Amino acid sequence: MKHELSLPEVLSQIEKTVRPQFGKGRVADYIPELATVDPKKFGMAVRTVSGQEYVIGDGDEPFSAQSVTKLFALGIALNRIGDEVWTRVGKEPSGTPFNYLSQLEHEAGFPRNPFINAGALAVVDMLLKGTRRPDLTVRDYMGFLCQNALTIDEAVARSEIETAHKNRAIANLMKGAGTLHHEVETVIAAYCRQCAITLSCRDLARAALPLAAGGYSPVIEETVFPARQARRLNALLLTCGVYDSVGSFAYRVGLPAKSGVGGGIVAIVPGQAAIAVWSPELDRHGTSVVGFAALEAFSQITNCSVL
Ligand code: GLU
Repeated sequence: MKHELSLPEVLSQIEKTVRPQFGKGRVADYIPELATVDPKKFGMAVRTVSGQEYVIGDGDEPFSAQSVTKLFALGIALNRIGDEVWTRVGKEPSGTPFNYLSQLEHEAGFPRNPFINAGALAVVDMLLKGTRRPDLTVRDYMGFLCQNALTIDEAVARSEIETAHKNRAIANLMKGAGTLHHEVETVIAAYCRQCAITLSCRDLARAALPLAAGGYSPVIEETVFPARQARRLNALLLTCGVYDSVGSFAYRVGLPAKSGVGGGIVAIVPGQAAIAVWSPELDRHGTSVVGFAALEAFSQITNCSVL
């Protein structure tokens, strides 16, 4: 990374820059259990391909990964069935909110991409073939990548399973269209449990590092997927990872990234580093306000951007 400051200096500058952003968003409350999280939390972790690792604030505190897990679930599906994944889900930006219904109806139950909820439900459905508990498979894969035993927050999982009316509507629509093969309740339970995986910013930066290193994990010292897959996942993150604010995210940050309504965002600097940030207050697109600002500050200060 070509910048004059050391990484710890960059991070402390970011911490100061984002302070005025607190209070501008709202913690997700449509999953009741997520509403209990302290809105003022802020953590960030950077792990470089060359082995540096810096963590600030609450960067070692586990949070609800939510849709950040969709990236790893997709990775498992690609490892297992390769390009067959694309017979079940598209690769196009949706331009619509993450849990949008009517686009799906117009497109015969075929989800636009694997990161909106419909696409993620299709990926869970793929993983259910041959695995009865895909949530545990995703948890263990993410845990393997960051070399930490991760857990599923049972209270968050239960809270989402009880209130997942919109996701049930999406799954029912897909079931009716023949694009979901397993029972709606089986898919919903596995999806909600997957979303309830918890991990810290440090864990997340480590787990995502192979995306910055052509599929090689400097943490495990092993190639975990082919370089081509890293390139393709980064392309999908850049075009679909932040739902219907992916354009402004590319404009302001310029890095492939995945957000989650737990307030986490993971971003990739190809060839250089993975960055994870967590702050629970969300904008209306479901992206962390402070996390977004922190990544924007990071790319401005370091001049790291793929664009
Ligand atoms: N579990 C959340 C949902 O389905 C995930 C959404 C997100 O994190 O963006 O609503």
